[in-house]
Amino acid sequence: MVILGYRIYEDIGDVPVDLTGRVAIKLHMGELGNPNHIQPDEVGKMADKIRENGGEPFLVDTTTLYKKGRFTKRGYEELAKRHGFGRFEVVIASDDEWKDVDGIRIAKPIAEADALLLLSHVTGHILTGLGAAIKNLAMGCVVKESKRMIHSHMRPVYDERLCTGCGSCVHACPNGCLMFGRKVILDTRDCPACGRCIGACTTGAMRRPPKAEIHGFRAFALAARAVAGQFRNGNMLCVNSLNKVTERCDCSSNSPRVSKDMGYICGSDPLSIDLETARLLREAKARIKWDTWDKFSRISRAVFSQHPT
Ligand code: SF4
Ligand code: SF4
Repeated sequence: MVILGYRIYEDIGDVPVDLTGRVAIKLHMGELGNPNHIQPDEVGKMADKIRENGGEPFLVDTTTLYKKGRFTKRGYEELAKRHGFGRFEVVIASDDEWKDVDGIRIAKPIAEADALLLLSHVTGHILTGLGAAIKNLAMGCVVKESKRMIHSHMRPVYDERLCTGCGSCVHACPNGCLMFGRKVILDTRDCPACGRCIGACTTGAMRRPPKAEIHGFRAFALAARAVAGQFRNGNMLCVNSLNKVTERCDCSSNSPRVSKDMGYICGSDPLSIDLETARLLREAKARIKWDTWDKFSRISRAVFSQHPT
């Protein structure tokens, strides 16, 4: 069941899901300076609705691989207050506590919640073309170690023989993963695979490993599937916001918009609402990397159908 509407805080009551007990509202509260993330007022209306129906909502997110405001638990807690979320119970998950499901480390406060409201701001995404519910599950609900694992497939590899030592890749890296040595020294432990170094390299010395996309997309989809599997008893609601859809995700300080506002989509199945989200955005001629999304969604469909909920 997929519902499209503008008054989502009223419409969520129409999706047959059970949001009672401790209800985790999983959302991205925005990188410092980002004006497009889901706003406290929107969350407040949904939290009120959950309370009305007997649930106890709290907001939750995990820390990032890249080293900006959301890199540490404390940094993210401060940022959440700064972005107006101080009136809610906000839980930023520790990277040291998780539940292991099929090798995926799901952040403990999410794994232990009675129900999940997966609230996703739809944006373009550097790895998957489009970021929405599947991205929020896969990358948003796991601790750093699993984020590293998922990204590891798409990180750059370096071929010293082709390197001229021009330094463009080092300057392009926003995360301090590259340094000058005799040639380039690559430390990819916290590399979120943004690809900027690859784009900056004109000789092919910095490139993605073979079959990076296939392996990376599969790891991404398997992580999403592992998290969704924790809420298979009708206790997960997915809400995608198609407002302020931007070229890059909310980890960017800012990013241009790529589509008109279209309200929200909600449903109980994350893949279905992402496919419907993509259909609406394509119809609206949103500037998204559709070739990347098409490959990613094909692999996601295969992964989700191999391991049905
Ligand atoms: S992909 Fe390249 S530019 Fe991006 S964070 Fe990793 S090393 Fe840095
Ligand atoms: S951009 Fe390419 S050629 Fe230049 S230093 Fe980096 S790897 Fe070497």
